[in-house]
Amino acid sequence: MNFHIMTLFPEMIQQCLSSSITGRAESKGYISFNAVNIRDFSNDLKHHKVDDYTYGGGAGMLMQAQPIYDCYLSLKEKIGKEKPRVIYVTPQGSVFNQKMAADFAKEEDLIFLCGHYEGVDERVLEEIVTDYISIGDYVLTGGEIPAMVMIDAISRLVPGVLNNDESALTESFHNNLLEYPQYSRPEEWMGKKVPQILLSGDHKKVDEWRLEQSILRTKERRPDLYEIYIAENPPKPEKPKRRRRKKTAVSENQENIEASNICEISNLDCNDKEN
Ligand code: SAH
Repeated sequence: MNFHIMTLFPEMIQQCLSSSITGRAESKGYISFNAVNIRDFSNDLKHHKVDDYTYGGGAGMLMQAQPIYDCYLSLKEKIGKEKPRVIYVTPQGSVFNQKMAADFAKEEDLIFLCGHYEGVDERVLEEIVTDYISIGDYVLTGGEIPAMVMIDAISRLVPGVLNNDESALTESFHNNLLEYPQYSRPEEWMGKKVPQILLSGDHKKVDEWRLEQSILRTKERRPDLYEIYIAENPPKPEKPKRRRRKKTAVSENQENIEASNICEISNLDCNDKEN
């Protein structure tokens, strides 16, 4: 997958993305970064000016249409596609999430436009932008960090980029759940023990415990996501009970957080745990 970034600060992008996991993925050829300096496309050959005052007044400068459009044309030619996907990173866009990352990861080429100063002349946006995306409800000084945030999230969904592709399937936001708590060595640290079930070697039970913990954590920390999860995974209607069931180990542990409800939502047979 090829990321093309239209920016006034290509060195910022190149330096950051060439490090760590994205850098390794680039050197292995899974992804590529092409940060292009918009200033190189300015018609002002003397000062390479790319911004000017805003019509109607108001504080600050605006990035002009011409250099951005010419930069876009050169990328369009390089990509060889009539209407490449162009993301303008802007606080005025839809807020980025994991689902969008997965959608963008299907593209072969993605162009990012990073604004600066007060933003960008509306006319060029109308001409080239296919997606307006924000990284959150706050205003930053430029679009480089938002573009890198998005590129990082998208990259790790490109096959081969993570050593273990499975991790993307259990991570936070997959299926609208947050990831379960995780532990590494030692088994006991500052008097805190790793939950016994994780040492049991019983993969089915470990999976059940993790799903249960994911649901509990999502309910507690992100009730908005929990609502969506519940709507998409409605609890099964309760079967009429023939005989009184004993309290399960799980529900005892989670007394105050409706564990039995969670077992149903996650299709677990909690009584299994006792048998
Ligand atoms: N005047 C603009 C903000 C300009 S901030 C407004 O009120 O909407 C300068 C640039 O930073 C923007 O053009 C955009 O590319 C980038 N930017 C700032 N905040 C952002 C955010 N939350 N998400 C994505 N891009 C952002």
